[in-house]
Amino acid sequence: MRKFLVWFFSLVGKDADAMKNAILCLHIEHQKAQKAIDTARVRLSKVKEQKLQHIGDLKRHTLEKTTAAVDRMHSKATAEEADIDQKYNEAKEKVSEKKRIANDLKCKAGDLAVVLSKNKNKKILLCDIETMANLAWVWGIYEQNVIAKEKEWHMLSFAYKWLDEKKTYVRTLPDYPGYAKNKECDKALVSDLWKLFNEADVIIAHNGDSFDIKKSNARFIANGLPPPSPYKTIDTKLVARRYFKFDSNKLDTLGEMLGLGRKLQTGGFDLWLGCARGDKKSWKKMAVYNLQDVRLLEKVYLKLRAWMNNHPVVDFDAVCKCGSNDVELRGPYRTKKRFGKRFQCKQCGAWGHTFENGKQKN
Ligand SMILES: [Zn+2]
Repeated sequence: MRKFLVWFFSLVGKDADAMKNAILCLHIEHQKAQKAIDTARVRLSKVKEQKLQHIGDLKRHTLEKTTAAVDRMHSKATAEEADIDQKYNEAKEKVSEKKRIANDLKCKAGDLAVVLSKNKNKKILLCDIETMANLAWVWGIYEQNVIAKEKEWHMLSFAYKWLDEKKTYVRTLPDYPGYAKNKECDKALVSDLWKLFNEADVIIAHNGDSFDIKKSNARFIANGLPPPSPYKTIDTKLVARRYFKFDSNKLDTLGEMLGLGRKLQTGGFDLWLGCARGDKKSWKKMAVYNLQDVRLLEKVYLKLRAWMNNHPVVDFDAVCKCGSNDVELRGPYRTKKRFGKRFQCKQCGAWGHTFENGKQKN
């Protein structure tokens, strides 16, 4: 450029000083322009740097913001998870509690059902026991006073039947493992009888009030057993005596007179002596004899039942004591204070009456 201007001014004839000044001016302008460019460059660089800084800041800020947001979300999710866990555990506990309550209710319902069924259909036990005689010393044979008692009596066997079941059962001392060691220990036998008494609502026995039940109680208490749960008793001997005038009220006689069968022949006291010796045949015979007593007892009881006017209520759903609802109304029934209806059972012939509140008596 300078060469060009020198060449140009040499051509146009201007003087060297003017040209120098012009060049100087141009040079100064050039420097200014260069400075301006540098300044602009610096500014541009600064702006660029600022922009980069700004972008960096923005990036960092965004990253921080995002990280914070992610952290918040994580914390929230963790809290929600803990909350869900807690609610799940609480719900689980509630479910277990409800299950426990349901289970308790189920058990109570079961107990109630047992109680109701026991009250509705009372358990009626027919029973007969056989005992060993006392062993004593006497001076003579006829009408003797006992000088000394050698051995106390014990229970030999019992037979039983639940009225609503078909089978009749018998238990004798040799049925128990202890018999081999001690032929007179009746603890296990008596304990089994106690369980039956405890289960029964009504116990039927011939001469039971005077003999079977009291004798059994004597062995219960002697063997350390508590009283069984309360039950009513029906003594067929007392029923026969109360309502009839038979020549004899023995079970064998009643069975024969009513055409129901007889007791088995025991063959006398030899049978008891045979059992005392541990003779198997004697025990077998004792068991059969005992079973037949209960079978005959049931027949006699069923025959006498219609005549009994103090028979315990055994089925609250049945009008008659025999369990039947097949009855015929036979006029009004009245006491001084209450009114009702009289009926006769078509099944067993028993008479009874109901009161207006629905409670029956027969
Ligand atoms: Zn009846």
